[in-house]
Amino acid sequence: MELNLPLDSKKLNKLKEVCSDTPIYCFPVDLTKGGLFTTDSFVGATKSGIFLFENEELNYHPFDKIEKIINRVQTNGTLITVKINGEEYPFARCSMRYASGVASVVRGANLLLKGEVERRIQNNDKEKHCPKCGRILRGTAVCPKCNKTGGNLKRFFDICRENKLMLMVIIFFMLLDTAVGVSKEYILRIFVDNHLATGTGTVGDVLVFFAIYFGVILIGLVIYFCKAYFSGKLGVNVVYKLRKKLSVKLQELSLSNIDSRNTGELVERIMGDTTRVSDFLNRSFAHSFNQVFYFITLITIMLIMNWKLALISFSFVPFMVIFTKTFWPKIHRIFSNLRRKMDVIQNKLQDVLSGIRIVKTYGKEKTEIEQFRSANENYAETNYKNEKFFAIFYPIVSLVFSFGTYFIIYAGGLNVLQGQMTPGELMQFVAYTSMLLGPIHSMTFLPRDIINMSTSLERIYDVLGEKPKVLQRENAISREITGDVQFKDVVFGYSSHEPVLDGVTLDVKAGEMIGLVGSSGAGKSTLINLVMRLYDVDEGSICIDGVDIRDYNTESYHSQIGVVLQETFLFAGSVLQNIRFSNPNATMSEIIMAAKVANAHDFICRLPDGYNTYVGEKGHSLSGGEKQRIAIARAILNNPKILILDEATSALDTESEYLVQQALERLRHNRTTFAIAHRLSTLRCADRIAVVDDHKIAEIGSHNELLKKKGIYYNLVMAQLQMNKTADKS
Ligand code: ADP
Repeated sequence: MELNLPLDSKKLNKLKEVCSDTPIYCFPVDLTKGGLFTTDSFVGATKSGIFLFENEELNYHPFDKIEKIINRVQTNGTLITVKINGEEYPFARCSMRYASGVASVVRGANLLLKGEVERRIQNNDKEKHCPKCGRILRGTAVCPKCNKTGGNLKRFFDICRENKLMLMVIIFFMLLDTAVGVSKEYILRIFVDNHLATGTGTVGDVLVFFAIYFGVILIGLVIYFCKAYFSGKLGVNVVYKLRKKLSVKLQELSLSNIDSRNTGELVERIMGDTTRVSDFLNRSFAHSFNQVFYFITLITIMLIMNWKLALISFSFVPFMVIFTKTFWPKIHRIFSNLRRKMDVIQNKLQDVLSGIRIVKTYGKEKTEIEQFRSANENYAETNYKNEKFFAIFYPIVSLVFSFGTYFIIYAGGLNVLQGQMTPGELMQFVAYTSMLLGPIHSMTFLPRDIINMSTSLERIYDVLGEKPKVLQRENAISREITGDVQFKDVVFGYSSHEPVLDGVTLDVKAGEMIGLVGSSGAGKSTLINLVMRLYDVDEGSICIDGVDIRDYNTESYHSQIGVVLQETFLFAGSVLQNIRFSNPNATMSEIIMAAKVANAHDFICRLPDGYNTYVGEKGHSLSGGEKQRIAIARAILNNPKILILDEATSALDTESEYLVQQALERLRHNRTTFAIAHRLSTLRCADRIAVVDDHKIAEIGSHNELLKKKGIYYNLVMAQLQMNKTADKS
């Protein structure tokens, strides 16, 4: 998101009068300080102060007069206040539409206020509205109304350039096809003029004509086959490359990038949109572009044969072009809409299939069917409108052009009667005029196909162009870590304007076990997500062995982290493949050793095919405890320096829990461990327990120390004891 939008010269001059600096941040606000709707208003910061333009009225506070700038999220928007002499004064206000950008401006202004003039805040949130026309952006980073198809066509030609050779082969066959198609009518003309019109033709002449004509048709078929074969091959090539690029991109993107999209929508872009681009190459490109060659050749021959008649046939073309062009933007929107509705269907389907257990348990099949029906109906309705539009559009275009043929028959007939043309020539001319209808028809379809393909390319490049939010720095360090973890004033929020962690400071020594507790939604998982570097902090830093986590090579760093979550995900494959996932080079004996330490070896041996038993989706069902032990074996094999346990035992029965706990004990030995557990008793062995509350670490200490403190932890333990007693009684 752009955080320094240009001010008009009038405002800029006004600002320069009070501070002689140019803005470093400048972002629109849509409410006045008093809460009234406003336009053309901006909040921003220069090197020396913070400013607000409410239309032309400037309010400026130099940094040397203020202590802090505060961003307060309220139910309907954001209020920015400035703290002066310990008192907070309202400064600016905006609705949720601008909250994310404004929050970043405030963070940037606070850095400037602290004298950190070189550091710049960036906002990686997607633009929610088109900066040009203000329309809501649905699903793509560019506005379908403002984005010209030209940009996407350039991408298309870039793709073509990558397949230059094959394309030239296809064009060669297209030219041959055109030559054969046009020459058939010429042969017919010669036959009519030389043998039929003169009355000198014999049965032998007819047979010769038949043989030549048939031979030309056969050659045409062979050429058609070659053209279709190479176009198909080009389509397959392109779809393969695009899907490869997309899958590499998906792995490259950070979790927050993926979080911001629906799975179904991504699947639709990878499978559906790439197929549409390939279909375009297979069908429209081979067919319609061939027709363009036909069009050019026919026009040239017709002009040479009889330019006056030719002009009569073409006189209707400009009407058609104007007519088609008028509808281009509408057609683009139609396709954009269709894709979006298809995304909704895909997402719904994805949700239902992933959550089928829940749907069935709650007997919500009817509701789900109803929701799917509604999404499907919505799509069908849009598609129906779309088809209706084209069903009216194309006949009108064809009708306009076919007037040309009627005029030619009339005017050409007069020419033959006056001896200015032979009957064969007239036949050839009428045939060419009718043949022109084909290319014209295709060329009117072509915009539709191009826009359809271009919409798909737009959606594909929207993903390909996305910048990973967790970036790897140049010369990133790849080295073995010992496991010291240091949080320094960490501020982080999933959306820029709502921090989940605000000023977290925590020092963890290598090999130490930290238990994380706190109410649900307090930010415990967020804290470990940051340790795993699935997200980057907004402010402050996390250091591993004294080095900023952002300076490490992500692959090398992640390879030294082990994770056991509440729900273990098993990939479709064998038990062996699932354990080996963390270390593909592990030997069989290392895998068996890891499985033994994880208390998994015995149950794996009892499975139908032992280590080769197929698990994952549609595979052999494993219990929660068994899955957890596979996850532990996976983690052991990786020999991690930092271990993350997120509610690893919370969903297990007592017997499984005992086996998993025992395995975890062995696993966590000598590793820095962060463990989240709902059952506080499982954290007693932690060296220290951190209580996350109110966006911060509210308490930290050993179990006994925290009990003595009689604070939040004490209350949580007491509440759980009480709950257990009640459960025992009942
Ligand atoms: P805890 O682990 O303590 O239950 P979390 O760290 O999961 O809490 O969540 C803290 C807050 O962040 C919650 O308000 C939650 O709704 C929000 N949150 C968690 N994950 C995401 C996400 N991927 N995107 C947006 N908000 C999130």
